[in-house]
Amino acid sequence: MTLSRRLFLSMVMAGTALPALGAAEPDVIIVGAGVAGLAAARALMAANKSVLVVEARDRIGGRAVTDSTTFGFPFDLGAQWIEAGRTNPAMAILKEMNVRPVPDRQEQAIYIGGSEAPKEEYARFEKIAIDASRKLVDALKKAPDVPVGRVLVAQDPLERLAYAMVGPLESGVELGELSTRDFMRQPEREPQYSVPEGLGALVARWGAKVPVKLGTRVVRIDSTGGQVLAVTTNGQLSAKAVIVTVPTGVLANGPFGFAPQLSATKREAIAQLPMALYNKVALSFGRKVIDAPAGRSVIGLNRKQEAFDAIVRPYNRDAAIVFVGGAQARQLEEEGTGAALAFAMSALAEIYGNDLRGLLARSSVTRWGKDPFARGSWSMATPGNADKRSVLAQPHHDRVFFAGEATDPVWATRVGGAYASGLRAAREALAVLGAKR
Ligand SMILES: Cc1cc2nc3c(=O)[nH]c(=O)nc-3n(C[C@H](O)[C@H](O)[C@H](O)COP(=O)(O)OP(=O)(O)OC[C@H]3O[C@@H](n4cnc5c(N)ncnc54)[C@H](O)[C@@H]3O)c2cc1C
Repeated sequence: MTLSRRLFLSMVMAGTALPALGAAEPDVIIVGAGVAGLAAARALMAANKSVLVVEARDRIGGRAVTDSTTFGFPFDLGAQWIEAGRTNPAMAILKEMNVRPVPDRQEQAIYIGGSEAPKEEYARFEKIAIDASRKLVDALKKAPDVPVGRVLVAQDPLERLAYAMVGPLESGVELGELSTRDFMRQPEREPQYSVPEGLGALVARWGAKVPVKLGTRVVRIDSTGGQVLAVTTNGQLSAKAVIVTVPTGVLANGPFGFAPQLSATKREAIAQLPMALYNKVALSFGRKVIDAPAGRSVIGLNRKQEAFDAIVRPYNRDAAIVFVGGAQARQLEEEGTGAALAFAMSALAEIYGNDLRGLLARSSVTRWGKDPFARGSWSMATPGNADKRSVLAQPHHDRVFFAGEATDPVWATRVGGAYASGLRAAREALAVLGAKR
C-alpha cells in the first residue's frame, strides 16, 4: 500500500494507527539490512525466533555493496577489506560461506609530485608511521583523550602524507576532528584480506535467506504500548522487540523518531558519533596505460600537495581505484562527480602520463555523504567521546536494542563491528523474549 507523503505525515503527526504491514507478527523487527541487521537476523533465526528485517533500500548489504557489472571486475563501493584478519569477527562470514580470504595491499609505492620517492624516503616514511603510533600511545598515558591533530603535527611533506594516512585517508576525518582514543581502539590492520567476488557480493549471498521487506523506510519506533511498533513509509509493523541498526547519520538527521523519546545521554551519544566521509573513484581505461604490477597500492602527494591513496591495476585490469577522505571528500562531493573524477585522473596522470586522459572508458564515483540511508561512510567519535559507543549500544525502554558498526567498542567503523554488534543485540533481544513480562 502506498500513501501520499502528506497523508502519511498527517497520520504520523496525529498518531493515527497506520495500516498493518505483512501478515503474522514477528518476534523481532530489525531496522536495516546491513551486516549488523543481517547478523542479528541470522542469530535470531538460528534460535528459532521469527524475524522481519525492514530495509529502506531496494537491496540488502547497506554499506557493503559490490558493483559486479560496470568494470568487469568487482568494485566494492563501500566495505572492501577485512582488516586485522586474525581476530576480526567478520571473518566468520567468510567461514560460514566457505570463502577463502585473499591477502591484500602488502606493499605501498610512494609518489611525491609525480615522482617516486627515493629509497631512503621509504625508510623514513616507515619510521614516521612507527613514531606516530608511539606518540599517540604516549598521549593517552598523559590524558584520557586528545585530538590526533594536537599530537601529530606535520613538519614536512612526508609527515603530511603519513598523517593523512591516519586522518582523512584512513579515518575519513581531519586530524583535528579525530579522537586519539577512538582511533587507537582499532586493532592493527594486518593481515588485511579481500574476497574474490567482492565483500558486498559476499554479504548479499550470506544474507539472502533472511526475510527482508525492501523499499520500506522506518520513520518511528514506538514502544509505549504492549508491542513495539515500527512506523514505516508503507504502513505499520509490530513485534515483541525491535533492533535498530541504522547509521548514526540517519539517527541524527532522520527522519527517524522514538516514542518515548531517547534519553538525553543517548541523543548526546548520537551527536558525538558523527559520520566520517570516505569515497572512491573507480576508472577503467581503453588499453594498458598504467605501467605497474597488478593490485599495486600507491600513496602520495600530488603537485598541489594534496594527499591521495589509490590501487592501480586491480584484478590485473587497466583500471584504478582512487580513495578520498575527510574535508577533501566533502568538498568533492559538493562540487559533483566531475570534480572527483578530475582529481583522480590528474593524480594518476602525474605518475603514469597524460595519455591516460584520453583513454578513460568507464568511471564510477561514490557519494556516501549524499546517500540518505547512510549520510556518510562510518561513525568516528569526536575527541573526548570514544566512550559514547557503549552508550549508544544500550537498550532503550527495555525492548528497543541498538546495533550497527557505531555501537561496537572495538571494531566500530568496520564490518567486523557491524557483525559483532548484530550478534550482541540478538542476544539482548533473546533475553527479553525469554523473560516473563
Ligand atoms: C567507502 C567505504 C569504504 C569502507 N571500507 C571498509 C572496509 O574496507 N572494511 C570494513 O570493515 N569496513 C569498511 N567500511 C565500513 C563498513 O561498510 C560499515 O562499517 C558496515 O558495512 C556497516 O554495517 P551496518 O550494518 O552497521 O550499517 P549499514 O550497512 O549502513 O546498514 C544499515 C542499513 O539500514 C538501512 N536504513 C537506513 N535508514 C533506514 C530507515 N529509516 N529505515 C529502514 N532502513 C534504513 C540502510 O539502507 C542500510 O542498509 C567502509 C564504508 C564505506 C562507506
